[in-house]
Amino acid sequence: MTSEGIASDQTEAVLGDYDVIIIGAGPAGLSAGIYASRAGLECVILEKGVPGGQVITSPMIENYPGFAEVPGMKLMETMAEHARRYVDIKEGEEVLRVRAGEKFELGTSSGRYTCKAIILATGSSHRKLGVPGEEGMTGKGVSYCATCDGFFYKGKEVVVVGGGNTALTDALYLVSIGCKVTIIHRRAEFRADQHLQLSVKQHKIPVMMDTVAEEIVEGEEVTGIKLRNISTGVVKTMPVNGVFVAVGEVPSSQLAAELGLEMDPGGFITVDRSFRTSVPFVYAAGDVSGGIRQIVAAVHGGAAAALSCFEDLMNPYYRKI
Ligand code: NAP
Repeated sequence: MTSEGIASDQTEAVLGDYDVIIIGAGPAGLSAGIYASRAGLECVILEKGVPGGQVITSPMIENYPGFAEVPGMKLMETMAEHARRYVDIKEGEEVLRVRAGEKFELGTSSGRYTCKAIILATGSSHRKLGVPGEEGMTGKGVSYCATCDGFFYKGKEVVVVGGGNTALTDALYLVSIGCKVTIIHRRAEFRADQHLQLSVKQHKIPVMMDTVAEEIVEGEEVTGIKLRNISTGVVKTMPVNGVFVAVGEVPSSQLAAELGLEMDPGGFITVDRSFRTSVPFVYAAGDVSGGIRQIVAAVHGGAAAALSCFEDLMNPYYRKI
């Protein structure tokens, strides 16, 4: 091992050589594994934690066809179990570096792997506000998942920070379970879809526009949030029990950057309709490739990426399997 904890090229044995390595075991990665393996490709899924991705934090999924109502954890356990029929999922195996060459070489904390193709299904994580108190109070009043944690704030004062679809959906969810909600948004207009804006109005949810969070008051639990109105400059501390942060997602695209993949300004990997990236034999699917953050879309992307990978590896004018 090197001092950074990454397996060294020279000394570490190759733990596996595959046609394709799938990085990430969320819906996109699991779907890619099923399709790649069923197409006859030697493949493995490397997952830094446990299978499931962000879906496992959703208490209930109601829009995945075939499952009218299913807890996120249950859906992903079922999907992982299905995938394991075809493909090995190595859990706790974080890919720390990747290098292109005659073959791709991936370094993890336990060794290195080689492969002819890679499918990146690394997902995204919640964007942080980056204000004092946020980190320290996470889990003590600061949350990034209204559907996971909202229940604890029934009857209490909370704010939702953000102006996109997630923020407004979260605010409506929190109101429906009995929280006293105010929406804080940094601009004068919401980014969210019109129907959500209308619903927020109909539910008379108070909104504070042109307002930014400057600090979350620290204590044993959150007691307030310091806000600044950017048009008037007025700063005030609003007493609240909970702060739900819904300011978007940050794609997990560090490996994509190492491979020199084309990305949009937000860091989402650019893919074509077949989920091919700008680098041959590298494919991307799920949240890391942008688009609608929906399970059904990730599952589609994973399958399409695997089939594109199969086509490319079998193409005698491209590269032989
Ligand atoms: P988003 O659309 O990127 O919106 C993020 C919001 O947070 C924006 O209003 C943005 O403000 C604000 N923001 C960003 N950084 C901030 C910061 N540092 N401080 C304060 N505010 C900040 O993200 P999202 O709402 O999570 O949605 C992501 C994707 O999921 C979208 O494609 C969305 O349609 C989809 N989605 C769909 C549904 C649905 O259909 N029901 C539900 C949830 C999500 P500005 O507007 O000023 O940039």
